[in-house]
Amino acid sequence: MKSRGFSSFRAQRNVQWLKMSEAKRDDFLMHTTTKWIVITGGVLSGLGKGIVSASIGRLLSTNLKVVPVKCDGYLNVDPGTINPYEHGEVFVLEDGGEVDMDFGHYERFMNINTKFAWNLTSGKIFKSVIDRERKGDFLGKTVQMIPHVTDEIKKRFKKIAEEEKADVVLIEIGGTVGDIENMLFLEAARQLRVDVGRDNILYIHLSLIPEVNGGEQKTKPTQQSVKILQGIGIQPDVIIGRSAQKLSEKSKERIALFCNVEKKEVISDPDTATIYEVPIIFEEEGLLSLINERLSTKAKQDMKNWRGLVDKIKSPKKEVKIAICGKYTELHDAYAIIIDALKHAGANLGISVKLSWIETTEIEAGKKSVSDVLKDVNGILVPGGWGARGTEGKMEVIRYARENNIPFLGLCYGLQLAVIEFARNVCGLNGANSTEIDSKAKEPVIKILPSLANITDMGGTPRLGAFAADILKGSRIEKIYGESKVSERHRHRYEVNPDYHDCLKKNGLVFSGTSENGRLVEFIELPKHKFFVATQAHPEFKSRLEKPAPLFLEFLRASSS
Ligand code: GLN
Repeated sequence: MKSRGFSSFRAQRNVQWLKMSEAKRDDFLMHTTTKWIVITGGVLSGLGKGIVSASIGRLLSTNLKVVPVKCDGYLNVDPGTINPYEHGEVFVLEDGGEVDMDFGHYERFMNINTKFAWNLTSGKIFKSVIDRERKGDFLGKTVQMIPHVTDEIKKRFKKIAEEEKADVVLIEIGGTVGDIENMLFLEAARQLRVDVGRDNILYIHLSLIPEVNGGEQKTKPTQQSVKILQGIGIQPDVIIGRSAQKLSEKSKERIALFCNVEKKEVISDPDTATIYEVPIIFEEEGLLSLINERLSTKAKQDMKNWRGLVDKIKSPKKEVKIAICGKYTELHDAYAIIIDALKHAGANLGISVKLSWIETTEIEAGKKSVSDVLKDVNGILVPGGWGARGTEGKMEVIRYARENNIPFLGLCYGLQLAVIEFARNVCGLNGANSTEIDSKAKEPVIKILPSLANITDMGGTPRLGAFAADILKGSRIEKIYGESKVSERHRHRYEVNPDYHDCLKKNGLVFSGTSENGRLVEFIELPKHKFFVATQAHPEFKSRLEKPAPLFLEFLRASSS
């Protein structure tokens, strides 16, 4: 496993850690003051466990250092090679880690930058155990799921706590209890109680409370999923009931009775107008004081600004219609991060964003016309993407935005396609294309990054993570960011071909941000247009409710005027 984003100082500490004897490590760890919260899910997947974890993190993180850890049962080392249809969009971190989308929730709710090492997958764990076995680390022993794999998991938990000097480590176990995939993570989480002491760990179980016959809440599925958890050896301390309405007193009593908890340890997680309301509800339900009481923590909450933004989301002054033009538009989770970034900008401007989903494969197939689908939108966004499908349709959309002075924001592939469209229709380079779309393109205005030309492995190989760009003086981008150097996160393999820079610039395309001594185009803009901006980066990854991404904010402002 290649280590990412570790400074040499960190690397040295890792070596020291590995050299320490097991007993010494444990002794060392017993002296840490970290508290632990383990969050599991029952009955169904997709109950919003990531949002629950992030909300708990939000409540605790005003004055405590909370470190979220996500355990995913799949065998992929990271989700970088997984199609967004499977688990939603991949989230990219400052250190270049490609991680589960839930990390987006953690960062956005808790206002922190997370790390690749905090996403444990079965792939990562098994790979390191097998690598160690090949090296001879276990010589003479049979290498087993328990204790070797569970020890590897626990070592990582504890190493994170120690390295980060965490007040609280929040461990979210993916999937649903009872799934074979997550058994080893659950077993490691069970064992943790003995290692860290029972007063230092809290188990929270999120479960579904379905409503039938016009609102009657049913607690049986929750009783059964808690039984599965108890069978694994974990007694939940807190049960969070996901339901349409708040839990009735009767439901709370039944859950308490059958699941071995007190009534005050049953917390409602009802439907909300926005996910950002969840921490507010948890606070009102007494979850923060319960955690403080059980873990002897002194977390205080300061949600004034947060509450103000939630109120603005709930009662917007204006509505703006934004077209999202892509090829996965029937699965909105594939664009969840962009939707959130738009919502953050909207909340800060008092605007509600209405999304119009444009499937660009239908445009290029001639099934729909651009002018029809875009006639009443206020702004057009072309997000990142991969491969050829849908790209001709996206370029038609970009052309429409450019020619009709409609605000346009292009992200990553969105920049590359905007450059191709400009090369074809303004510079007159008819054969312009990306070599990703046509390897024999006559005018390869977008081509593979030279550093990646000979790499065939797909996992973890794009240009990933935070990179800074130098911003052109007097450009719109400089005004938007108010800075001469801007760092955003990246995930791409291709770039604007330097051989075409002069031709593009001569015809009026402004390169408003570049990196690597001007070779790599990071931001482009068209000066006479109302708002025509694109970036090779993904500014959506750094957008937060309390700190919206500048490009999204200005794009929305332009779209609303
Ligand atoms: N496919 C393009 C590239 O690899 C764009 C990637 C993206 O949009 N994330 O460069």
